[in-house]
Amino acid sequence: MENLGVAPSSATQTHSSNLSLARASLLGCSALLLAIFLLVTALLVYIAHDQNHEAEAHSHFDSENALQGFEKLTRSIVKDYAFWGDAYRHLHLQVDPEWAFVRQNLGSTLFSDLGYQGVFVVGPDDRTVYALVYGQLQSVTLQGWLNHSMAALIAQARQDTKNATAVSTFVDMDGVPALVTAAALSPGTDPSVHPDNRPPSVLLFVARLDPARLEALGRDFGVEQLRAASSGDTSLPTLALADGGAAVQWTPERPGDQLLVLVLPLLASAGLVFGLMAWFILRRTTAAARIMDTEHASLVASRWALAASEERFRDVAEASSDWIWEVDGQLHFTYLSERFQVVTGLSRDSCLGRPVDEILRSDQGALSTWFKDHARRANAVLQCNYQSGDGRARICRLSVREIEGRGYRGTATDITEEVEARRRIEYLSQHDALTGLANRTRMQEFLEGKLKSMPTLETPLAMLSIDLDRFKPVNDLLGHAAGDQVLNEVSQRLAGCLRGDDLVARIGGDEFVLVVVGMASYQEVESLCRRLIDCIELPFSIAEHEVFISASIGIAMAPVDATLAEELLRYADIALYEAKEAGRNTWRFYAGDMNARIVERRQLESDLRLAIKQDQLRLHFQPRYRLQGKQLAGAEALVRWQHPQRGLLGPELFIPIAEETGLILPLSNWVLHTACRAAASWPDDVVVSVNLSPTEFQRGHLVARVKAALAESGLAPARLELELTESVMLDDAQGALNIMQGLKALGVRLLMDDFGTGYSSLSYLRSFPFDGLKIDRSFVGGLTAGGGDRSIIQAIVGLGRALSLTVTAEGVETPDQLSALNDVQCDEAQGFYLSEPMDAQAIAQLIRRKTDPS
Ligand code: C2E
Ligand code: CA
Ligand code: CA
Repeated sequence: MENLGVAPSSATQTHSSNLSLARASLLGCSALLLAIFLLVTALLVYIAHDQNHEAEAHSHFDSENALQGFEKLTRSIVKDYAFWGDAYRHLHLQVDPEWAFVRQNLGSTLFSDLGYQGVFVVGPDDRTVYALVYGQLQSVTLQGWLNHSMAALIAQARQDTKNATAVSTFVDMDGVPALVTAAALSPGTDPSVHPDNRPPSVLLFVARLDPARLEALGRDFGVEQLRAASSGDTSLPTLALADGGAAVQWTPERPGDQLLVLVLPLLASAGLVFGLMAWFILRRTTAAARIMDTEHASLVASRWALAASEERFRDVAEASSDWIWEVDGQLHFTYLSERFQVVTGLSRDSCLGRPVDEILRSDQGALSTWFKDHARRANAVLQCNYQSGDGRARICRLSVREIEGRGYRGTATDITEEVEARRRIEYLSQHDALTGLANRTRMQEFLEGKLKSMPTLETPLAMLSIDLDRFKPVNDLLGHAAGDQVLNEVSQRLAGCLRGDDLVARIGGDEFVLVVVGMASYQEVESLCRRLIDCIELPFSIAEHEVFISASIGIAMAPVDATLAEELLRYADIALYEAKEAGRNTWRFYAGDMNARIVERRQLESDLRLAIKQDQLRLHFQPRYRLQGKQLAGAEALVRWQHPQRGLLGPELFIPIAEETGLILPLSNWVLHTACRAAASWPDDVVVSVNLSPTEFQRGHLVARVKAALAESGLAPARLELELTESVMLDDAQGALNIMQGLKALGVRLLMDDFGTGYSSLSYLRSFPFDGLKIDRSFVGGLTAGGGDRSIIQAIVGLGRALSLTVTAEGVETPDQLSALNDVQCDEAQGFYLSEPMDAQAIAQLIRRKTDPS
């Protein structure tokens, strides 16, 4: 795989930075242009203001000129009238209104044509001697009409007489400026007039500058709206005309404003257009930049992601135990990850280019076909076999994916161990770990399978339940390894007796089940059973020992006995029980009366309740002898039931019923008392042993009951032996130990009965306070003078000696067995050969005979 590099290219970066540079410079430009725009505006405003200012100054000058022009004009008019000899004669030397007014020398035309509202002559005594107001001759004084004292002006006019000039001043006449022009009357250049020596009279013209006149005046000089100043308006240029407050105002031209009005909108719209353009461009570039930024960011991110994913791929490919493969359209390997070599031990180079079918094989047929059919599925997985580099068969799981039209790729996981483990688990769940035989589960499956195919009378199915006799002590005494060895050997022997179609299963410690098909006759089955037992009875060589065991077989047949697996199993078990009852080493077919016996048992149950009350129980005693000296050591009390209809019944028929129904307590009490009473009459060295049922231990008061029996009979506790089987200790070892210690405290002896038939006799023997053990008669049965079961008995005797226990062999039926027991130095013996159980009277007689010296 090519490495694309992990850093994003610098071109992209430059691109992005260029863009932001462009954006920045655009912003800069806009700012600069804005500044320039503002500057221009400011400049424009400044220029406009300056122009306005200049225009105002101009208008001021013009206004001044206008008024001065008017003043000049009026002065020259007044001078003309005052330096006139006739006027001096008719208005100073004597006042002649007729000459002045009527003859229109100084008459109404001064108002109508020249516009002077007031024409006055003030005499040498400062009295108004001639007054023409609005063209009419009036008898008002100058001061009275003007409301101003013109004394100063008059005085000034008299002074300037020699210069022949007029003087003037502006006054405020009720808010209207008025020009008052004065000149002293003088004869002028007229030689006919002789001036007197009085102060000259003074001629005064008053021109009221009312609005129309002022406006006209101004207009002549290009001044707009020249008018009397209103006191409040200070915003307009003002020209003060006199100290007295007369002033004029006008509206100056504002060329700057015009400029602004003209240029500003243009400038503003240009600015707006530019601003909009800049905003638009900025917006576009920003959006573009954003897109580019995003694109750039996502490009960078995707580059990183790609790089990371490649790195991840490499790491995973190298770290995982899987290998990765790729094939082309012809299914030839085009890629194999490095792990391939490590996992398979095959060379990568030699496999690349080879067809996939050459290396991998599947149960599903050719891989090429399978790929075509399945690779499009989401989870196409195929289990394949291949041969590893070192030639071992391996299994891998192939995940397959189609590369669009170009071939396939996927991973391969080595699952050899997984598959083997699964197979092993499957095997273990179906098989017995020790012997490798089928277990109960497998057997049931097999049986059900066989039953489904309907066995017929011609081809029946036989179900054999096999239980080993005398196997437990092998386990206990020679060790579990020896026990396992025997079980393995037994398994092989059993399997050796069967044909391929049949099944042998181990369903318990020493219990086996055989399912046999196609044995047409009972004779055939019987001969099979014979063969099986013969096989098992052959000695087993375990370490240096020769071990002998046997087997009991119960048989149930389908379809005769049952057609259901469960029933078949139960019936085979019932038959097995019968076989064991029949003395072991044998077989029994299930029979209907075996069920009938169960019914019979129900009857016995109810009968047994009466038996105790109606005194139907009998106690027999079987003597026990010391092998050394052949002396009577004691007798075992064995209960019988004298049934009114069925005769004398053995304990195995009713003890289990008594245990189940709780009748065992009264029954056992009866035995205990009867035995103790009988023994009390015997010689002191003869002991009596009484069998105890395991249920007695659980239902309490045993110690008290024994104590009572001893007390009632007066028997010495040391002469009472209690026989217990290991099942007493199985349920509640601690409880049993407490009771046993209580019994020991009474002084009675404790024997372990049926030694060798239980599971852990040996360990109990060590940890419980026993005084002796009784070897089960099944061991003694196998004992012959020549050898037989000798090693086990010998081991038990040795063990008893080591634990200081009295060892009694039960069921001695032949002189050979007796001598064999002698050979192994067994302590005591009991059996039909020595003496059968007998009633109380008979035992008493026997004892008397033995002890009687006569
Ligand atoms: P067990 O304690 O093993 O008693 C010995 C049994 O072996 C007796 O059978 C006896 O008749 C039989 N036997 C003695 N010698 C030989 C022989 O040489 N060969 C053969 N084949 N058998 C021999 P029994 O009397 O039928 O007693 C059977 C079992 O019933 C006893 O086995 C014992 O477990 C139980 N049992 C007997 N009496 C009582 C009792 O009073 N109370 C309780 N709880 N159980 C009792
Ligand atoms: Ca017994
Ligand atoms: Ca016994």
